[in-house]
Amino acid sequence: MNEVKSPKRPMLYYALIALTVLLLLNTIVMPYIQNASVTEVDYNQFLTMIEGGKIEEVEIESNKITFSDTDGNIYVTAPVTDLGLVDRLHNANVKFGSDIQQQMSPLVAFLMSWVFPIVIFAGLGYYLNKRLMDRAGGGPGSMMFGMGKSNAKIYVKSTEGIRFSDVAGEEEAKENLQEIVEYLHDPGKYKEIGATMPKGILLVGPPGTGKTMLAKAVAGESNVPFFSMSGSEFVEMFVGMGASKVRDLFRQAQEKAPCIVFIDEIDAIGKRRDGSLVGGNDEREQTLNQLLTEMDGFEENLGVVILAATNRPDALDPALTRPGRFDRRVPVELPDLKGREDILKVHAKKIKIGSDVDFNKIARMAAGASGAELANIVNEAALRAVRDGRRFATQADMEESIEVVIAGYQKKNAILTDKEKLIVSYHEIGHALVAARQTNSAPVQKITIIPRTSGALGYTMQVEEEGNHYLMSKEELENKIATLTGGRAAEEVEFGSITTGASNDIEQATKLARAMITRYGMSDEFDMVAMETVSNQYLGGDTSLACSADTQALIDRKVVELVRRQHEKALQILRDNKAKMDELAEYLYFRETITGDEFMNILNRKPIPREIPMMEEESEEETAGSGGDQPQAPEVSGKD
Ligand code: ADP
Ligand code: ZN
Repeated sequence: MNEVKSPKRPMLYYALIALTVLLLLNTIVMPYIQNASVTEVDYNQFLTMIEGGKIEEVEIESNKITFSDTDGNIYVTAPVTDLGLVDRLHNANVKFGSDIQQQMSPLVAFLMSWVFPIVIFAGLGYYLNKRLMDRAGGGPGSMMFGMGKSNAKIYVKSTEGIRFSDVAGEEEAKENLQEIVEYLHDPGKYKEIGATMPKGILLVGPPGTGKTMLAKAVAGESNVPFFSMSGSEFVEMFVGMGASKVRDLFRQAQEKAPCIVFIDEIDAIGKRRDGSLVGGNDEREQTLNQLLTEMDGFEENLGVVILAATNRPDALDPALTRPGRFDRRVPVELPDLKGREDILKVHAKKIKIGSDVDFNKIARMAAGASGAELANIVNEAALRAVRDGRRFATQADMEESIEVVIAGYQKKNAILTDKEKLIVSYHEIGHALVAARQTNSAPVQKITIIPRTSGALGYTMQVEEEGNHYLMSKEELENKIATLTGGRAAEEVEFGSITTGASNDIEQATKLARAMITRYGMSDEFDMVAMETVSNQYLGGDTSLACSADTQALIDRKVVELVRRQHEKALQILRDNKAKMDELAEYLYFRETITGDEFMNILNRKPIPREIPMMEEESEEETAGSGGDQPQAPEVSGKD
């Protein structure tokens, strides 16, 4: 809640201004107005007027003499030493009075002392309030006066000139949204026929896939105002503020129609309402209710289109997705190979690149990466080029930055003992060798034992030859598990002892094995019965069990069995290829990084005559990788 802090300083500031204005009024303006009706005369004239009997009343002060004539005019004169003055005044029958100069017209006096200050303060107060309201939802101070009120300026955001052409690889989403663009160009056309546009469209997909970009692009393409607010911004400290923000947002949007209203992270307010929770989140619920009311309230075909983004569609309140609300759903998925290539190209336009950059290859290496990650990869490459004092980014920069994005920066000063280095070499070769000796494994792209800031001591990168896989067979999944256990298996075969280096492998293998049994129906026991449901498809794929405790125990046993079977298979493969493993591990130990080609060359050459390496192309079938129904990071077996 950034709005709580320091509304005091501006308040003090404005109070000071008010005080200054008042003082100025009193010292400069008021006397001026009063003096306007006072005539200054010299002493001689004063005496003449006394003699002429024209003076009615007089007030003598040490620094001035004020007097009024019989017509009520007021005069003032400077006093001189005149001992006979009092006698003279007595003789002329002049009254001695006080406070002559205060005799302004009662109306002016009233205006001056009451109306004027009030007007000034009211004006100041209004200005103040407006200033503070302008900052509602942002800067300090909005809470004090801007309570629940806000100003159009906050919501209308720049689309940054983003067009559909800037969003790469989301062709279906763009096609879907094209209709909205046409509608916003000419809402009347739709009204004529009687067709109604959906009021709300939900952009659904994992983080960083370009949902915000798409919303901006729709506004940009239709050339209409873009109102934007994040769901979390609605949820305020005080109950009721979120709701009034919603009200304001919609009021402004209706004034500016046709326009786009974009609500990012709508799940922050649109979460399934939970009746059971004692003292649940009132604020969020009110905000959501207000949103629903507003959506129902505004006229169809007014030209207001609400886009909302979420990566947790399953968590949304069903009331939000009912017809008439967010009833259209546009999936914005992780990009496929072609999409990744296009996104890389879009972002590479912003930097200088060398002629050797192979976008297809980079896209293949970055399987499972989101648009945001790809943008990051390109930027990292450019940064690396600058660091090395080059004028453009090369393929090597790109490849290195993929590794940075996956595994973190190289930790050049991490010192491994020779023994540790040897263990890591065997571990990584174990992964690679098991992968290579099975059919249906993605080819090895690179093996390295340079430690990374992520904590990985080395890794083996496998890259799909053809990019995306949408289906994975049971065998492929089993092979993948075997590959994951290969690192640990190599340690066992070579050293007869085990290390902590396999923790990441273990985690991945367990996840896969579990999914096979509980979700993919790949066990004999459970046939095609789902034991788990994915509750959070786009964020890590959290699952929740839906079975009895007995079944859970059985599942656990089955998972262990499955992993153990694959682990044994890996051990067998490595024992059978012990000589090759030694050769490769030694090679990796000295080189620290080897390419997939080098690996295959050594693997395929005949062991005895080392001088003549065989170059035969044993085609390892490409499989595994980003598949199944769950987006995955680029496939890195044995990140540790
Ligand atoms: P989301 O809203 O889905 O989390 P954003 O739209 O904020 O993702 O995307 C974040 C950044 O990632 C964008 O600013 C852009 O640089 C990059 N990006 C994401 N998707 C794409 C895409 N399809 N094409 C080009 N750039 C993309
Ligand atoms: Zn490993």
